[in-house]
Amino acid sequence: MSQPNMYRLNSKEVAGATEEWLAKRGVTKEQIGQLVMLLQKDYFPELTLAECVLNVEAVLSKREVQNAVLTGIQLDMLAEEGKLLPPLQDMIAYDEGLYGCDEVLALSIVNVYGSIGFTNFGYIDKLKPGVLKKLNDKSGGVIHTFLDDIVGAIAAAASSRIAHRKQAEREALAEGIQVRDEE
Ligand code: MG
Repeated sequence: MSQPNMYRLNSKEVAGATEEWLAKRGVTKEQIGQLVMLLQKDYFPELTLAECVLNVEAVLSKREVQNAVLTGIQLDMLAEEGKLLPPLQDMIAYDEGLYGCDEVLALSIVNVYGSIGFTNFGYIDKLKPGVLKKLNDKSGGVIHTFLDDIVGAIAAAASSRIAHRKQAEREALAEGIQVRDEE
């Protein structure tokens, strides 16, 4: 039932804000694409960076993902500004070892393309290659407690999407049909 003056979500605004805030926090789609490449190149040697970036864009087009990105970045920024209440302020500011809500929020991204994303997420979280190393650099007063997990999760989800699609492509090729490109 629709009511006057009711809150209405503008999906384009959410998508636009996600893109804008990732860029403002110093993360590009190419950097996430490079993480995807690292995760998938052994399985698909013909994979290109452009293909990885396309898959990152597909992941970023999902509302669950946009919600997690906006929430995580917001918490990082509030912690930077010292605006959270204690003891949460210090837990997030110092990326405290027993505080795991950053990983839990990131799992809502990993979930989008099924369970093989979990393995990739765990792997990349341990290795912290490329942009993840930069995000984990605790010097300079910038806090990325949430964003590092979110970026790793986007890469893991994009990798999972690639794996699922490559399989679908192989099967479609065998059957002489084309894979649809809807999500
Ligand atoms: Mg973290």
